[in-house]
Amino acid sequence: MRGGNTSQGKLGTQSVWAGEDAYLMQGATQVPVVHSVGYGYDDLEEWHEVALGLRPGHIYGRNTNPTVHVFEEKVRILEGAEAATSFSTGMAAISGTLFALLRPGDRVVSLVDTYGGTNKIFSEFLPNFNIDVTLCPTTDHARIIAEVERGAKILYLESPTNPTLKVVDLQRLARVAHEAGALVVVDNTFATPINQHPIKLGADLVIHSATKFLGGHADALGGIVVGPKDLIQTIYHYREINGATLHPMSAYLLLRGMKTLQLRVRQQSTAAMQIATFLSGHPEVEQVFYPGLPTHQNHHIAKAQMVQFGGVLSFSLKGGFEAVRTLLPHLHYAHLAANLGAVETTAGPPRTTSHVELTAQERADLGIPESLIRYSVGIEDPEDLIADLEQGLERVAYELDLRS
Ligand SMILES: *Cc1c(COP(=O)(O)O)cnc(C)c1O
Repeated sequence: MRGGNTSQGKLGTQSVWAGEDAYLMQGATQVPVVHSVGYGYDDLEEWHEVALGLRPGHIYGRNTNPTVHVFEEKVRILEGAEAATSFSTGMAAISGTLFALLRPGDRVVSLVDTYGGTNKIFSEFLPNFNIDVTLCPTTDHARIIAEVERGAKILYLESPTNPTLKVVDLQRLARVAHEAGALVVVDNTFATPINQHPIKLGADLVIHSATKFLGGHADALGGIVVGPKDLIQTIYHYREINGATLHPMSAYLLLRGMKTLQLRVRQQSTAAMQIATFLSGHPEVEQVFYPGLPTHQNHHIAKAQMVQFGGVLSFSLKGGFEAVRTLLPHLHYAHLAANLGAVETTAGPPRTTSHVELTAQERADLGIPESLIRYSVGIEDPEDLIADLEQGLERVAYELDLRS
C-alpha cells in the first residue's frame, strides 16, 4: 500500500507518509477531516464487536476518530513506539498519563525544571490524592538516582528543559529507574523525534505537546502519548472516559504541519546554533543557554543523545529586566507571545510565558534570571534573525548609556 512501508523509511519520509494509507478515500491524496460524532452499523453483531474492540472501526467521537487516528499513527511511527493515544492538549496528555497510572500511596520522582503546568500538577494536584512527588535539582544525576532507588512508580523527565535548556542523561536515568521498578516518562516536546528518540534511550512513555514543534504553525492545540500497548490502553481508557479528546480539525492541522517536521526542525536547529553563537559573543548578553554550545554545562550529554540541539534557546541580559523591556518591542521578526516551536520566531520572558504560573520567588529558586528571554527560532533566514537581534541589542546599549 502507498506509504505502507513507512516504518522502515527515514524520518523525513515518515513525516510525510506515515499513518496515512488506511484513510485516503476515493483517490484523495490528503486525509479527510471526519467531523461525524457517531458511526452507523446495520449489523448489530458487527457494531457490538467494534464496540468491544474486537474488530477495527469507530463508535463515538469521544473515543476514536479516523483523522485523529492518522495523527496518532504518524507520531507513533516517528517515535518508534508500539501504540499511541492523543489528547486535546499537551497538558491533558501529561495529566491524563499521570492520573491513569498513579494510585494513592505511589511516589513520583521528577525535576524542578519541568514545564510550568507539569510542575503545578506535581505541586498542587497529585498531593491531593496522597501521591508523593519529589522534585530533584535538574542536573543533579546522583540525587535523582538516589531518589529513584528509594522507590518510585514513575520517573518523569524532560530534556532539554524549559526555559534554561538543561539536559539530563536519559539512558543512564532510565537504566536506574528500571532496576528500581519505576516507569520512565519523557516529555520530548523540545527535542522532537527529529532530534531525540527517548524510547531507544530506554523511556517507556514519550509525551508531546503537539501544539509546539509537531504542529509547528501555532494554530492547533494537541497532545500525545506513545509507548507499549498495555500502558497506552490504560491511558486511552482514562482519556475516553475523562473526555479530553483531540478535535478532528486540530488533528488535521497537526497532521499537515507534521509533513514538514524534519525540514522545519533541521532549519530551526541549525539557525538556533548560529544565533546562540552570535549571542555568546555579544557585550549586552550576560549568558546564553543552548545545549549545542560547548560551554553548556551538559553539552557532552546532549551531544551523545541528540542529533541536533533543537530550535529553542534562552539568554539573559546584563541590563536586567529594563533591558528586556527595551529589546523585545524592538524585534521585528519575533512574536512576543507565549508559544514556541512555530514557523515564526517567538520570544518572551519566562515570567509571562512558560513560568507564568510560578511566583517570582519560585522562579528565583529555579535559577531563572528575571532578565531571561526565551527565544524560539522560526524558519526565517538566520541572517535576518541575527541582524534583528543585533539592532535590538544596539538599542539596549544606547538606552542604558543614556541612563548612566
Ligand atoms: C507547551 C508545553 C506543554 C503543555 O502543552 P499544551 O499543549 O500547551 O497543553 C508541556 N510540555 C512542554 C515542554 C511544553 O512546552
